[in-house]
Amino acid sequence: MTPRETYPQERQRERTGDRARRAQLEQVTERLEATERRLTQLQNTVRAVAREADVTVSGPCGRCGRVNLLVTDGTLHCPMCGYRRSL
Ligand SMILES: [Zn+2]
Repeated sequence: MTPRETYPQERQRERTGDRARRAQLEQVTERLEATERRLTQLQNTVRAVAREADVTVSGPCGRCGRVNLLVTDGTLHCPMCGYRRSL
C-alpha cells in the first residue's frame, strides 16, 4: 500500500479535527474531575450522616446492586429493595 498524498486542504481539515477532539477531551476531563469531586463530597456526607444516625454503611446490596446495605440494631438491610438479614 502506497502512502496517500495529503493535500493542504485535507491537512487543514485534520488539524481542525485534532483541535476539536482536544477541546472535547478537555471538556470530558473537566466533567470527570468535577464528578469525582462531587462523588468524594457525597461519600464524606454519607459517612458523616451515618455516624450521626448511628448507622453503619456496608457493601453494595447483592440483590439489587442499587445501593449500599445499612446496618442498624444488628440487622443488615437494603433501603431500596427491602432485603433484610440479622447479623
Ligand atoms: Zn437491594
